[in-house]
Amino acid sequence: MSLTQDSGRNWPRERVEQTARAICDPPAIADLLAAAANPSPDEVRDILYEAGRGRGLTAAQAATLLQVTDPSLREQVKDAARQLHERLFARRVRLLAPVCPTNRCINECLYCPLRRSNSRLRRTASSARDLQREVTALVDEGHRHLTLVFGEDRSGIHYVCDMVNAAYGVRSGTRRVHRVDLNLNSSHPEELAALAQIERLGTYHVYQETYDPETYARLHVDGPKQDYAWRLTCHDRACEAGLRDVGLGVLLGLHDPRFDVLAVLIHAQYLLERYNTAAEVITYPRLLPVPGAPVTRDTSWQVDDEAFGFLIAVTRLVAPVTEIVLSTPATPEVRRQLYALGVSQVSVGSLSYPGVYSADGDPEAAGSLRIGRPRNLETLVYRMCEVGFVPNFCVECYAQIRQKLSDDSRQAERYPVHRAAANSLLALKEYLLDYASPETQNVAAGIIQEELARLPRKVRDATLDLMEEAEAGLRGQML
Ligand code: SF4
Repeated sequence: MSLTQDSGRNWPRERVEQTARAICDPPAIADLLAAAANPSPDEVRDILYEAGRGRGLTAAQAATLLQVTDPSLREQVKDAARQLHERLFARRVRLLAPVCPTNRCINECLYCPLRRSNSRLRRTASSARDLQREVTALVDEGHRHLTLVFGEDRSGIHYVCDMVNAAYGVRSGTRRVHRVDLNLNSSHPEELAALAQIERLGTYHVYQETYDPETYARLHVDGPKQDYAWRLTCHDRACEAGLRDVGLGVLLGLHDPRFDVLAVLIHAQYLLERYNTAAEVITYPRLLPVPGAPVTRDTSWQVDDEAFGFLIAVTRLVAPVTEIVLSTPATPEVRRQLYALGVSQVSVGSLSYPGVYSADGDPEAAGSLRIGRPRNLETLVYRMCEVGFVPNFCVECYAQIRQKLSDDSRQAERYPVHRAAANSLLALKEYLLDYASPETQNVAAGIIQEELARLPRKVRDATLDLMEEAEAGLRGQML
């Protein structure tokens, strides 16, 4: 499919520019941050009180929190986030596996080893059959939720659709994929219309990388992704095409993280007001030094673990029911802190190369994407349970939660806390019965008991009944 940047009938250039200005006004964001500098403790506490109601915060309030530098006040911000996150997400962490069908890309993003001019990378693209082998390996391990990650490949949208359909088509006994998300570059209306035809398509993620236009121009030196405004407006086109779930994100470390996080939160509020579809998912990958992308060695805007946790905490307070994804490696201790502060989804394994899960890929295709090895799912499940979190395999809750929240702003009081908690326990129970070793079953049984005890009696009894049915062999039971 060959399309020019303004070929979308309803998206002439003027509309693109106008919409981009409505989403992100960089001088206004800088002014908000400047006006919020050096907030007083009282000011911050008032905002935290407001945040505790779970109705989100305004852009000005978000700016104030982002400007907190005093260590004890930052701790108070984190405490407030922990409490809100605990109330809404009840220690659940959704697990998803990133799959990379192709490492081909025509863009030249200076922070990415997949950029077109990186000749050290051996380029390859999976066929539908190759991908199905990988997906089979993943479902046989217990995965239900995948994100297919694409660069900008000339194979076009048909290739993307074929890969999504191939993933959904995998059957290994009764095992299958329950949700496939896409991490894709900005698409044209015609392409989005094709994606919208895919039944049960999950979240359409497009990260702006940085909302600062100058930094964006400096780092995107060739290819269609150079067009800042076109990329910024892609979620609008996705919503118009009928895609329900969209994901935003920035690559922390490219520019001032306070600016970029505030911009992404304002973008999410814009989508909520305009389409009643708040960014369902926000992802904050962190810039890591990798060969093949020298820019990644620039530490001017490096985000350390403390700062990362703080940004997650602010995001949780501003966007109470939005899923927040951890997609870059962290130590087990940092990971545990992030789960408590607001992270509700984690990528199991780092972004890798085509064929890595089925062991028939070419390691030379990984280049610097060999950031660690894909982690073993059961190990992560075990570790999560061990420190008191619930590995969440339930993906059906997305639709239920969206339905529940859709006729109102995304306010915490409408969030179906108990139902989501019960369904995650049911999905965990099924995972344990079908895949886990006795050691993992043991440690997870403790978590299940603790979590059941927190549920209202009626919900607990219904959950226990369904667990008995799962033990008898029934699958897919939900409240
Ligand atoms: S960031 Fe994405 S678009 Fe840019 S070079 Fe990498 S894969 Fe391609």
